[in-house]
Amino acid sequence: MTIKNRAILLTCLAASCVAAFAAGLPERAEAVVDYRIQVRLDPKTKQLHGQEWISWRNPSQDQVEDLWFHLYLNAFKNSESTFQKHRGLRPGTKESVYGWVDVLSLRLENGTDLTAGMSFEQPDDGNKSDQTVMRVKLPQPVLPGGQVSVRLAFRAQLPDLRVRTGQSKGTFMVAQWFPKLGVYEPVGMRGRTTGGWNCHQFHPSSEFYADFGQYSVEITIPSNFRLGATGQLQWKKDDGKGQSTYLYGENNIHDFAWTAGPDYVVMKKKFSGQADVLEGEYKQTASLLDRSLDEVRLSDVEMIFLMQPHHLDQLPRYEKGARLALKWYGLWYGRYPYRTLTVVDPVGAGGGGMEYPTLITAGTTELFSYAPFDRIMFPEMVTVHEAGHQWWYGMVGNNEFEEAWLDEGLNSYSTGRAMEQGDGGRGMMVDFLGLQLTELDVIRLQNRPSWRYDTSLQPAWSYQSGYSFYSYTKPELMLRTLENHLGKRTMARIMRTYHERWRFRHPGTSDFIAVANEVAGKDLSWFFDQFLKGSAPLDYEIAGISSFQVPARVGVFDGPKGRVKLNGTAEKQPKTKPRVEPKYRSEVTIRRNSDAWFPVDVLFTFEDGHKLLKHWDGKARWTRLSEEHTSRLAKAELDPEHKIELDANWSNNSRTMEADSRPAAKWFSHILFSLQTLLGLIGLLA
Ligand SMILES: [Zn+2]
Repeated sequence: MTIKNRAILLTCLAASCVAAFAAGLPERAEAVVDYRIQVRLDPKTKQLHGQEWISWRNPSQDQVEDLWFHLYLNAFKNSESTFQKHRGLRPGTKESVYGWVDVLSLRLENGTDLTAGMSFEQPDDGNKSDQTVMRVKLPQPVLPGGQVSVRLAFRAQLPDLRVRTGQSKGTFMVAQWFPKLGVYEPVGMRGRTTGGWNCHQFHPSSEFYADFGQYSVEITIPSNFRLGATGQLQWKKDDGKGQSTYLYGENNIHDFAWTAGPDYVVMKKKFSGQADVLEGEYKQTASLLDRSLDEVRLSDVEMIFLMQPHHLDQLPRYEKGARLALKWYGLWYGRYPYRTLTVVDPVGAGGGGMEYPTLITAGTTELFSYAPFDRIMFPEMVTVHEAGHQWWYGMVGNNEFEEAWLDEGLNSYSTGRAMEQGDGGRGMMVDFLGLQLTELDVIRLQNRPSWRYDTSLQPAWSYQSGYSFYSYTKPELMLRTLENHLGKRTMARIMRTYHERWRFRHPGTSDFIAVANEVAGKDLSWFFDQFLKGSAPLDYEIAGISSFQVPARVGVFDGPKGRVKLNGTAEKQPKTKPRVEPKYRSEVTIRRNSDAWFPVDVLFTFEDGHKLLKHWDGKARWTRLSEEHTSRLAKAELDPEHKIELDANWSNNSRTMEADSRPAAKWFSHILFSLQTLLGLIGLLA
């Protein structure tokens, strides 16, 4: 623990943090926003007509003079938006439908018109053509703890389906569709030194950040459409003229998404805190985490699946994924607090693999119904991953624009761990023709020494390339490495404590590191500085091994009986004792090929079967380890237990005295690489 961290911890223990960090799982968020929305979908024009009442409470000690909104749909308005410029413009056709959202009116509760104070802002890149962030000046500031309510009318054009938003084949995925407030961050939140709005533009590789509160949304759609939405259905009315209105609501959430279309088949299943979890599993979890049985018990959840008719045979795969997430994330991090989880089987390629509060889009293709692809657990994994976001993006609510790894990284790590729990704890990601790969095996293949130009901790839109490597893959490998270093129990408690302490509270990276240091009882900044804040990859290699007979001593030696001269022939042995076997000295040279370091184990295996594990702190650029033994060295292996999941090159980790067995290893990794490419082609995760 650094002095600074220690000071923060001590201040915390002494003062208000104790109350704020009281043990146990927070039941609810301190509501900052209250949204009431009425919206009607016109399927012909693909437009939304909406009215919105927003109440915002000032959570800071500042006088706040404006409100900042996200108008995400304007990312799809034209070729000049930051989103389109960064992504490279898709050639539009005459038929292309572009997306946009217009704020038609904006008033205070008392009727005061605010439209004259509206302006588009570009806090990230100054691109004046970008209209994804809107600022509104208020006639009077909102006092600390005070509240302001506004009413606005908007019209939105849904684009052709892209990044999980828009229309495809008559089905509508309605996400990031309404004017939504950013987060007003008070001093101290995520290390801020002054309070202010955090409201970033929409970029191709950034996700979302908004405040917790209540949502109550009335949705009017054609009566022949099926609807899936965030939260719980409160009521439904038909007008008898072909239109139906649904009211959905939920608390302790920070966004609202819905989907509607005529073709969905709606299937409902129940996750049961009693039937889906064995009593022994509750006991093991309570013991692992050092929590009471009551604290780890799960509640029932209604799982709602909106399936494409031609994917109905894959419902069990989605269901398996949803159950794995609700169970294992629930046990490890804390029970799912909402009544529903809606899983949407997306209509098109641009609709899959996304998370919204209590509603996710999964993803599959018909290919996965046929051998051997039915043995690739991709639909299950996407469902686990997107449902799993509920615990990080959803409940913890970190800033996905600025610290994407805190969501995607923690979630990728959790996805892999949850997938392993499938099939009685032997869950594979790929399992056919004798090839068995866990999720971790697949992830590990993505690591390469050439990933060295960015860090995991940087704004999501600022990557040269490889946003998904740095936000998903590297943090997953980092957390796995940390787990191997600290032990399963300590790691499980770090993750649980972080979730409990920060559920509904918008933490930052330093909050995660503080929890890790505290629970591990040691300063881990050497680790996070290198692998989270630093760009260097990690790679050690066995550069050479040798084993030779220790030569007989020659020369003049002074002993207890005076000076003797030895000429290299065997020294006389006492006749009564058994003859000493000739000794061999074996040497292993290890080189650090990277600027980053990590402690390494090296396993010596001798020809007589004897094994010896040696440890090196890994800090120098190279070292030579040696050992004398009665037989020759047969093999030397770096990190034999594969603790260093971050190792960017595993092919240089072992050497034998005999001819190398690397060709076989290369052939195997070739297969794995092809498989990974295939998975990449099928769909991208978010
Ligand atoms: Zn994700």
